[in-house]
Order: sequence, then C-alpha cells, then structure tokens
Amino acid sequence: MVSTNLKSQYDAYVMPTYGRFDVSFVRGEGATLYGEDGREYIDFASGIGVNSVGYAHPDWVKAVSAQAGTLAHVSNLYHTLPGAKLAERLCALSGMEKVFFANSGAEANEGLIKCARKYSHDKYGEGRAAVVTLVNSFHGRTVTTLAATGQESFHQHFMPFTGGFRHVPAGDLEALQTQPGDVCAVLLELVQGEGGVLPLDKEYVQSVAGLCRKNDWLLCVDEVQTGIARTGTWFAFQQYGIKPDIVSFAKGIAGGLPLGGFMTGEKTSDVLTPGTHATTFGANPVCCAAALATLDILEGVLSDVGRKAGLIRAALEEKNPENLAGIRGLGLMIGLSVKGAPRDYAQSALDKGLVVLTAGKDAVRLLPPLTISEKELEKGLKILCEVLL
Ligand SMILES: *Cc1c(COP(=O)(O)O)cnc(C)c1O
Repeated sequence: MVSTNLKSQYDAYVMPTYGRFDVSFVRGEGATLYGEDGREYIDFASGIGVNSVGYAHPDWVKAVSAQAGTLAHVSNLYHTLPGAKLAERLCALSGMEKVFFANSGAEANEGLIKCARKYSHDKYGEGRAAVVTLVNSFHGRTVTTLAATGQESFHQHFMPFTGGFRHVPAGDLEALQTQPGDVCAVLLELVQGEGGVLPLDKEYVQSVAGLCRKNDWLLCVDEVQTGIARTGTWFAFQQYGIKPDIVSFAKGIAGGLPLGGFMTGEKTSDVLTPGTHATTFGANPVCCAAALATLDILEGVLSDVGRKAGLIRAALEEKNPENLAGIRGLGLMIGLSVKGAPRDYAQSALDKGLVVLTAGKDAVRLLPPLTISEKELEKGLKILCEVLL
C-alpha cells in the first residue's frame, strides 16, 4: 500500500503518465524488495530489466560509492577512465569495434538511427534513408523511436512523426525483399520485449542478415532489453549466428543507473565524426563504474541463466496452472501467455508478494534479476503458480 501522504504528493506534483500500482517500495536486497509497510516482495521484474544484479549488491554499491566520491561528471570534453574501460570491455564481450554512450534505450536507438543514415548518406547520397523495422516492435518513446516502433497504438497524439520508417511483419521475408531502393537499414529486436516476449525465428534472422549483406543495408539490432546477459549470452545476437553492423543496449547495463549506448562494427565505426553526435551525460563516470561492477558480477552468473530459466519453465510445466496457455522467451526473458488480462495477474501477484511485468496483449513477463537465488526463485514461483491457478 502507498501512504495517503505519498499518494497525494504524487497526485499534486507528478504528471499522471503512468498507471502505477498501489505499492511503494523503500529498499531492496538481492531479488527481494521491501514495501513501505515492511512487507516483502520477490522481484521477477528487475525494474523492467534494469536491476540485473538485484538490489544493493555490495560490489555494485562499493563501486558506485567510490566513483561518486572521486569524480561524478566532467562531460565528454575530457577523458575519463570508467567509460574507456567499459567501452573496451563491451567490445571484447560483443566482438564489436566502438561504443557511443548515451543515457537510455530510446537515446541509444536515436544514435543508432543517425549512424545508419549517415553511413548511407556518406556512401550513396540523398534518398536512401529509410529504416525498416518489424510490426509489433518497440524502440522507445522519443518522436523518432516512436516512428520506428511498429505498433499503431504508439502512433497517436504527437504528429508529425519522423519520416522514413516502414514496418514489415516478423517472419515475412518477401516483405523485405520487395522494399523499394530507399532502404539504409533494418532494425530488429531479436526477442520482441514490450510486444509480448516473442523470439524471432533463427532462420528468418539469418535470411534478413543475408539480405542486408546483399543490399548493403545495415543490420541493426536493438538489444536494449535482450542485452547484457539477459538471454543467457552477453548479447542475444550471439545465439542467432549473425554479426550486426550496429547494436544498441541500455536497461541492464549499469545494474540500476541510467546508461545506454550503441556499438558499431567494421562498416560503421568511422561514420560518426566530431560534431555529428553528442550527449552531455554520456559515459558518466558513476554510471560507467556501476556498469563495470555489474559486468564483473554478471560474469559469475552468466552460465546460470539458462539453468534458472529451466527451473522456472519446469516448475510452471509441472504445476501446469489452468490460466497458463504457453511459455516463450529466451533465457531469463520469459513471457507467459495467460487467459484474460495480464494486468489482473500482475495485480494479484503483487497482492501476494511477487512483482511481475506484462507485455503485449496476452503476456505476463518475467525479467528476474540474473543474480536471483534459488530460494527466491522458489518463493516467487510458488506465488506465480497460485496466481495462475
Ligand atoms: C525499453 C526499451 C527501449 C526504450 O528504452 P528507454 O530506456 O525506456 O528509453 C527501447 N528498445 C527496447 C527493445 C526496449 O525494451
């Protein structure tokens, strides 16, 4: 429950853009959150895929505190160590070549799109700037990333949207083959997250990669939700046998602090030159120190992601609750298709002490911290099964 005080403060001063649940959290530890009233909640949501190492992990707290007490920000007019170390580390983990740091997923995708368009403009000139994305995709909430998002419900209120985006159905190769000659890039989520936790078919993705190579379209992957160990590899593209030209990331990278960015490869690393792209907070030292600590912690649990996902699936399959119609996803990014409104299940889970998310029209979405203990998993699964009964 939320105290009347807090609620009236929200009502008076905070814009009503979110349908918030009637709970207020005051602290967390591991994969457990504590409410204002001291009540315990198992977390299967990670603040929407952000808290990949849970709450208040001692190594993360130490790294953030140390950096905050040393140098919090100086801007990109100067060099700072945490961003450089993090960029090197991300390139090593991904096989990509260079990194641009931003502050959120939408901003990461904005940069990715600018990079793709400039690549094409430098090489081919005007008239080749269209970016093709998938129906049911989600790429962010800025005016441009809303245009990139392939869902009509997001194309309201804010007209005119940025031009030059087209959406094709996932799995429909012909819709891509028959594109006019103005395409510069294809942008994909390998598992559509907000759209319902829908993994793309591997063969389809490899065919898209082939088409991209053939036409010199840049293959761009939005790993804002799938990235940073969430699906059981550092990046989901590593399970699809493809080599993207640009990859964006955000959510889980810094374990709870705002950080995003995109990585480029051979074709795209020299596209953005001085003055063509920037952001004041980019590579913020505290966020980058948090990310370095997060990667260290995740290194120790990465090989467990598949096993933990297996535990969740096995528990649900064994109990086979009546309102569960199917399980999908990749690694610890799991979608449960449910009978009835997903939000109702999220509400009753919360009432019983479990935090879950929803996605698309039919799914309860699970994005637990990757460091979740088996005990916490078990507790959460017990509640989840009750809720789906
Ligand atoms: C969440 C998300 C975004 C947007 O990230 P923000 O940090 O909210 O701007 C973009 N793409 C995907 C795939 C996402 O899941």
